[in-house]
Amino acid sequence: ISPSIGIAISHDRHKEPDEILRDSDIALYRSKEQGRNRYTFFDDALHQSSINTLIIEGELRRGLVRNEILPHYQAIFNLKSKKILGFEALMRWNHPERGLLMPMDFSDIAKETGLIEQIDWQIYEQVCRDLPILLGIADYISINVSPRHLGHENFANRLLSLMAEYGVAPSNLHMEVTEDALIEHPELGLKLLTQLKLAGIKISLDDFGTGYSSFSYLHKYPLDCLKIDHSFIKTLTNNPDDKTIHLVSAIHALGMSLGLEMIVEGIETDDQCHCLQNIGFSNGQGYLFAAPNAIEEICNTFKLTSA
Ligand code: C2E
Ligand code: MG
Ligand code: MG
Repeated sequence: ISPSIGIAISHDRHKEPDEILRDSDIALYRSKEQGRNRYTFFDDALHQSSINTLIIEGELRRGLVRNEILPHYQAIFNLKSKKILGFEALMRWNHPERGLLMPMDFSDIAKETGLIEQIDWQIYEQVCRDLPILLGIADYISINVSPRHLGHENFANRLLSLMAEYGVAPSNLHMEVTEDALIEHPELGLKLLTQLKLAGIKISLDDFGTGYSSFSYLHKYPLDCLKIDHSFIKTLTNNPDDKTIHLVSAIHALGMSLGLEMIVEGIETDDQCHCLQNIGFSNGQGYLFAAPNAIEEICNTFKLTSA
């Protein structure tokens, strides 16, 4: 037994009994987040952080109505020819006061409140609008799919109808799921991914190597591609004493033997790129090639006509 306990002590700001319960509940969740088997007091810091959460949640709801959350696109390259293969859509929040916010600034709150689903649908719709423009230089856009979607029976149908509404061909859309999503929704996840794969959408397993990296998932789910997490690439060197190179080579061999495509994330230096090519990887993304950019910037760079 590993109990998690939240403790709130009566304070002048509490006007109703429910408010003390709410604060102890917040403290309880903090205990769980920090690994359980502990107690947490609802103190001033937790009070301030819950107010911040409420503020950001309110601003996110407003941002959704005002279309402030938009995709930026990062190109995925062939490492040898440097040809762009596709783009990954990454959410950005154009906050009216705080400027451009990254997923790490708001995704925890978006996930906790469930707003991530609405955000994703807004991103997917914008991706459908931008696709015809980017098809001038790439074959597909890849979208990130929050685990929550795989808990909805109608997710695949809803995505396919959105694509039909904008005339998007399934071969031009890829989707990225994480192992968490498959762990949370093993059966429905399998059903939905199979439906989407049969419709012609390619499916990638994102951040491979960070979670359980379960072999059984690799053949149970209808995957086309493994995205190797950038945490491996940071420490990658050509030195044969370096353990990372052996690990990354083993992942490459595994992917090859299962007939999976592979994309390496987070390539920042020429040395990393050469090392990955020596192992046998052909595709990747990272700041070495291109950072994520707004569609307007990509249009300017490649002289594309935006809608
Ligand atoms: P991810 O899907 O693994 O995306 C790759 C992340 O690596 C992106 O971070 C990207 O900007 C960053 N990156 C690209 N090149 C490099 C590099 O050379 N070095 C390093 N260190 N990082 C690089 P970002 O945009 O901050 O996104 C973080 C995560 O947020 C994503 O990880 C994804 O899990 C989630 N996310 C982003 N957009 C969406 C979205 O539209 N929907 C959902 N559900 N999740 C999203
Ligand atoms: Mg991704
Ligand atoms: Mg990733």
